[in-house]
Amino acid sequence: MDRLIDIVEDRITYPVTWELDPTNRCNHYCVGCYAKGAGGRTNNDHLTLKQAKYYVDQVVELNAKAINLTGGGDPMFNKITPKLIEYIRNKGLNVGMITNGSLFNDKSIKTVADNCSWVRVSLDAGTPKTHAFIRKVPEKQFGQILNNISKLCEQKTTCKVGTALLTSPETMGDIVEFTRVSKECGVDYVQIRPFHEDFTIPLCINECLAMQDENFKVLYSENKYDAGYKKQYSRCEAQALSGVINVHKLYLCCHFRGVDKYELGDLRELSLKEIWHSQHRQDIINNLDFKDCIPHCRLDLVNRTIDNLKTSVPDENFI
Ligand code: SF4
Ligand code: SF4
Repeated sequence: MDRLIDIVEDRITYPVTWELDPTNRCNHYCVGCYAKGAGGRTNNDHLTLKQAKYYVDQVVELNAKAINLTGGGDPMFNKITPKLIEYIRNKGLNVGMITNGSLFNDKSIKTVADNCSWVRVSLDAGTPKTHAFIRKVPEKQFGQILNNISKLCEQKTTCKVGTALLTSPETMGDIVEFTRVSKECGVDYVQIRPFHEDFTIPLCINECLAMQDENFKVLYSENKYDAGYKKQYSRCEAQALSGVINVHKLYLCCHFRGVDKYELGDLRELSLKEIWHSQHRQDIINNLDFKDCIPHCRLDLVNRTIDNLKTSVPDENFI
């Protein structure tokens, strides 16, 4: 609430959550990925544990509540990640992680299950064939990943484990099987939403929703299939609540990783606080061109909520 008040009263505020990418490298090659190795637009940078701790310390100084380890590349591709997870927990922050699920071993599964608040495995498939096609990996990896997810689910106590599938013509036929195998592994939820700019509503979604029970939820982002949606607000305020550190560099939001126009600064040159308060960051926020933003961006709902708070209501004294 204090940060929302800062925004409404036009003061600089600090993120509640930071996304931190331990690496831009990955062992998968998904179409549309930001990671350089997968043909994306980021570089091949990779953090040392010393650098990662230094950046986490700065995030803590800015009063953050949580860090999501994501990419970039795959967080588990960087061998420091299990130690980094423990370090973040010991600093009193919550940790979440998004991963392709292929790079776990028994030791890292235990560290993750014991320390993370949530882990989401991006599967994008319900069968080995689709998984191999989307991610350009051998078909046998699908079974190994399901095995890792099952182990995570067996060991978790407070950690929520989920899987995700982005719908597209290539993955659409797999959503029922994806939901079924995920539930069989013991996950708490599956997330189904569209690949950017693909608005084809999944026909079998009701079959997936019917599998829900007390311990298993299907999180279906129905609003993201509205092809005619246009943002009604004129400023992105939500970027201030969710920071993005792509290895060494800060970006305006998660969708602009690797885009020079929206690079806020480099932590090898300036501190996090200096970048956050810089005129350069303000200029980027003020000159944001919404044509560069996807309509259903990750922070759209937060922006809509803040816009409602900032908009004065006629006859506001009448409840
Ligand atoms: S697993 Fe994630 S980081 Fe790796 S190529 Fe696929 S989308 Fe990119
Ligand atoms: S894509 Fe969304 S979060 Fe990113 S700058 Fe645009 S409006 Fe903000």
